[in-house]
Amino acid sequence: GAAAKIAAIRHGKHPAISDERGELAYKDFDRQIDQLANVFRERFAPGTTIGILCRNHRGPLIAAFAASRAGLNAVWLNTAFSARQAGEVAEREGVQLLVHDADFADVVAQFEPTHGKVIVDIAAATDEFDAMIAEGLPKAPPSPAKPGRIVLLTSGTTGTPKGAPRSEPKGFSVPGAVMERMPIRARESALISPPLFHGTGLLIALMAIALGDKLVLRRKFDPAQVLDDIEAHKVATICFVPVMLQRLLALGDDEIGKRDTSSLRVVFCAGSQLPAAVATKAQEVLGDVVYNLYGSTEVALATMATPKDVRESPTSVGKPLLGARIKILDEHGSDLPTGSTGRIFVGTTMPFEGYTGGGGKEIVGGLMSSGDVGHFDENGRLYVDGRDDDMIVSGGENVFPKEIEELLASHPAVVEAAAIGVDDDEFGKRLRAFVVTKPGSTCTEDEMKAFVKHNLARYKVPRDIVFLDVLPRNPTGKILKRELADQEDRG
Ligand code: ATP
Repeated sequence: GAAAKIAAIRHGKHPAISDERGELAYKDFDRQIDQLANVFRERFAPGTTIGILCRNHRGPLIAAFAASRAGLNAVWLNTAFSARQAGEVAEREGVQLLVHDADFADVVAQFEPTHGKVIVDIAAATDEFDAMIAEGLPKAPPSPAKPGRIVLLTSGTTGTPKGAPRSEPKGFSVPGAVMERMPIRARESALISPPLFHGTGLLIALMAIALGDKLVLRRKFDPAQVLDDIEAHKVATICFVPVMLQRLLALGDDEIGKRDTSSLRVVFCAGSQLPAAVATKAQEVLGDVVYNLYGSTEVALATMATPKDVRESPTSVGKPLLGARIKILDEHGSDLPTGSTGRIFVGTTMPFEGYTGGGGKEIVGGLMSSGDVGHFDENGRLYVDGRDDDMIVSGGENVFPKEIEELLASHPAVVEAAAIGVDDDEFGKRLRAFVVTKPGSTCTEDEMKAFVKHNLARYKVPRDIVFLDVLPRNPTGKILKRELADQEDRG
């Protein structure tokens, strides 16, 4: 909220947001936030929790900033939630008011917030949104005694999405640490493709607002539209989760080459593993602009691979950001030497305070267990080798599916790949790989296996390879391995 106020003073006439409704200047953005904050203040007691269930447009940002200025808490709900999940999370977080897009009416009908619902969908319910804002006085509300807090939800990769509260960072913040190593400047354009309810999208949006940049927001991700937007808005910073970059590149060199992408200086990728083949190809096509960041909902961002890191070690997630600490520990909590793989523990300037529903993560020496395993190289670059719980032991050897996934993805016939462990009488566990091949490919299972055998140890060769049309993913592009495992059960 404060960042938008400062931007309005410094960059008032400059557009803050460009979405399907057109452009909104910083001074108007700021005024609308004040107006909605005044409406919130009149209707709801400080400390009330609002839920936000929206796609990317000005509505959820105005609502979230207004909530903060009115001393209300805001929980960002995932748009892919089923009605039951949304209801459960809303109940756990004590959501009393729901701010949502019209197309989630089905989900919304399933649970009843205490104080009601507000549709802020600028496409479907512009009148209602405008009328609500018009009700509020266009002046800054008095600062709340206690600032509202923001709750982000984890992806739910390992179970039910957990609520991670975010308080104001003390001292130097994570966005500051990101900017320190990235050429992001004031009054440029930033296109945010990941959903705003995900830590990555929201963090970059806040960073861009603090700089007085124009945020380009689209309701749905469409790679061709991304190219149009880069050209039309002279986008300097683009924020993706890896699968979005992959889908953009799948348009083909010719299609991309036809457009002017020369304004791009930063292609920001975070949130899940960026396959090395994708990172390398992106640098070839878009220039030396790819940044791969590693982090989680709990601690925001912890490391960054710069374009130089991506060029020199495309599988690494780079070096710790300013203010971040990372350790690789063995199962007893002792430090492991450079090069050895162990559990990754992280700490950033956004310390994790425990989940809203109770519980937390293992903490050792002030650092939080990330749930990932990885190692550092002699240049100080971190590699995420996989998730703790993805690792399988096959015939007594540790196998990280990620290594096989990376290799399969580098095969010329393969678009993307995933691997999971399956029970095996002989080895205890073995891998089953799932691959999506390029249209027209005639590559067979045996050829794929031979390819793995040629490159990796024998125990890493998948027992079987399943060909799929697409991999199941959540809205932030994480591969849903539990769904792959279920497919296997049914099969
Ligand atoms: P849950 O905690 O509900 O199971 P989740 O851990 O997937 O879900 P997020 O906080 O969205 O929730 O994801 C963080 C995880 O994503 C990291 O621990 C890591 O496994 C993975 N990740 C994030 N960025 C990268 C990256 N650049 N490279 C590799 N993996 C990444």
